[in-house]
Amino acid sequence: MLARPVEERRETIQEGDVVIVYERHDRMKAVSVRSGEELSNRYGIFRHADWIGNPFGCKVSGKAGGFVHLLAPTPELWTCVLSHRTQILYIADISFVISYLELRPGSLVAESGTGSGSLTTSLARSVAPTGHVYTFDFHEQRANSARQDFVKNGLEGIVMVDVRDVQGLGFPDTLNGKLDAVFLDLPQPWLAIPSAVKVLRCNGALCSFSPCIEQVQRSCEALRKHKFTDIRIFEVLMRTYEVREEHLKPVQQEVTRQETLEASEDKLSSPPHKKVCLKGGTGQASECPDTVRTCEGLIRKKPGFRMAKPVPETRGHTGYLTFALAYTS
Ligand code: SAM
Repeated sequence: MLARPVEERRETIQEGDVVIVYERHDRMKAVSVRSGEELSNRYGIFRHADWIGNPFGCKVSGKAGGFVHLLAPTPELWTCVLSHRTQILYIADISFVISYLELRPGSLVAESGTGSGSLTTSLARSVAPTGHVYTFDFHEQRANSARQDFVKNGLEGIVMVDVRDVQGLGFPDTLNGKLDAVFLDLPQPWLAIPSAVKVLRCNGALCSFSPCIEQVQRSCEALRKHKFTDIRIFEVLMRTYEVREEHLKPVQQEVTRQETLEASEDKLSSPPHKKVCLKGGTGQASECPDTVRTCEGLIRKKPGFRMAKPVPETRGHTGYLTFALAYTS
């Protein structure tokens, strides 16, 4: 279900579907719809049976009158609601990885480790319906839980999960020369690079995610040794913008103000900050350009321009993304 394009999705909720119960942007939960069951939260008690037949995106009321929205699952929402069995990749990194690796329907990708399956779910949507994601984790329980999630989300035909120590054994030889891309999220990714070069087709792309720059340095050494080209490192950071309303002065007014200022400075006379007022927006005389006189004779502040200013400090380091292209003869 998660891998289907929006236009191919069913529009109404049915028994067994996964829905994302949306309370607030920071409070969501994935729920499998079972007609005999109920969901209870701070907004009330909701019978799943009442959801069946409603369109995805609908607003449903509980027994006590509170409400929630029922959203169709997408990889983006799945990343917000999945159970964290490990650290995960978030949408800022995921979207960059998928576009830089140029994944598309039909692509073949290998990934290790699977972790909580956050990246895997987005990879699966990019390569569906004809491509495949081969994902490996050496932690058996994690691999099994991820497999259950992929089945729940209808991705079992696209994602193949295996338990494997990729740092020790590399990727399986059966994949040799077949893959368009390899993604590594491992503690010692440089150990998997000799195997990555074997499974990638010529010009296939590799991406490795590492939190520390020392890991990046060692990976780059291994990439150079194995004749990878176009090695590039990125850090994706979210920048916060402060949005506020500003009252800008008309250009002519600013020119007049500057002239007044210069004239006052020339004369070294009394305060140069004399306020010059032009006609207001309604065409009536106004006490100040930021105000308008209403028909009741009241003075009201004119709405200003919305301005966005970046907050200078950019936090949120998750890791570095190292990309490279395989050169195989
Ligand atoms: N990218 C994943 C996601 O978005 O959900 C998270 C990956 S998690 C940070 C790293 C995973 O690598 C863990 O699940 C761990 O078990 C696995 N791992 C560590 N060493 C490994 C190895 N030698 N072979 C395979 N998997 C390994």
